[in-house]
Amino acid sequence: MNDIQREFLELVADVRTHVEFQKALGVTAIELSSEEAGEAPVSPHSNEPLSAKEVSPGAEGPQSPALDAVRQELGDCTRCKLHQGRKTLVFGEGNPDAALVFIGEGPGFEEDQQGRPFVGAAGELLTKIIEKGMKLRRQDVYICNIVKCRPAGNRNPEPDEIETCVPFLRKQLQAIKPKVIIALGNVAAKALLKTTEGISKIRGTWQTYDNIPLMPTYHPAYLLRNPRDKALVWEDIKQVMAELEKIQKG
Ligand code: SF4
Repeated sequence: MNDIQREFLELVADVRTHVEFQKALGVTAIELSSEEAGEAPVSPHSNEPLSAKEVSPGAEGPQSPALDAVRQELGDCTRCKLHQGRKTLVFGEGNPDAALVFIGEGPGFEEDQQGRPFVGAAGELLTKIIEKGMKLRRQDVYICNIVKCRPAGNRNPEPDEIETCVPFLRKQLQAIKPKVIIALGNVAAKALLKTTEGISKIRGTWQTYDNIPLMPTYHPAYLLRNPRDKALVWEDIKQVMAELEKIQKG
C-alpha cells in the first residue's frame, strides 16, 4: 500500500468515526465548523442556559453522607481568591455512587449563576455525549470541576487556586469511588495528572489518578469551536464505555 492509499484509508476511517459520533448525538445534518458557517467563534465559556427540557430532572440529586461531609468542610469557602468573584460555589452534582465522574476546569458564568456544573452551551454538549452518545442519564454520572468558584472573566484557574481547591475534589472522589474518571480539557488533565503534556498529546491514552483509570479528552467548549475533533472525543468515549463494560462484567 502506498502513502496516498494509506492516507485515503485513514481519511475514510476519520470520516466514519465523525459520522458515527454525530449520529450518536442525534445529528442528522452535516455540521459545519463555526468558521465554515461564518459565525463568530464561541468563547470557551459561552453559556447559553439549557432549557428545562435539556436539563435532566433531578440531576442535582441528593449527595451521600460522605459527600455532604466534604461540602460541609468547604462551607462558605474563602481559602483562595476565587471566592471574591463568585456568586455561587459550584460543588458538583449527579449520582453520589457514580461509576463515572467527569471533571472539567471550573464554573463559567451560567454555572456560577445556577450553582450547577456544565449547564451552559458546553454543558449541553456534555449532556448529549452522556445521554445520546453513551446512552446513560446525566444523573447517573457525577460532574464536577477542578475549582469550584468561577475565575473572573473566565480565565484559567491559577496554580495556587488549583492547589487550594483540588484537595476537596480528591475528597469528593474518595467519597464517590468512581471506576473511571474523564478529565475534560487541558486544565483538568494537567491538574489531576501533574503533567506538563498538553491535552492533544495525552488525550485518548489511559492514565491513573489515585489508582482510578483516567481518560483525558477534549473539553466540550473546545469541541464547540472545533467540531471536527468530536471524532477524536468519540474514540476516547468509546474506550471509556468499553472499560466500564469490562468492569461491570467483572
Ligand atoms: S475555588 Fe475552591 S478553594 Fe477557592 S474559594 Fe472556591 S471552593 Fe474555596
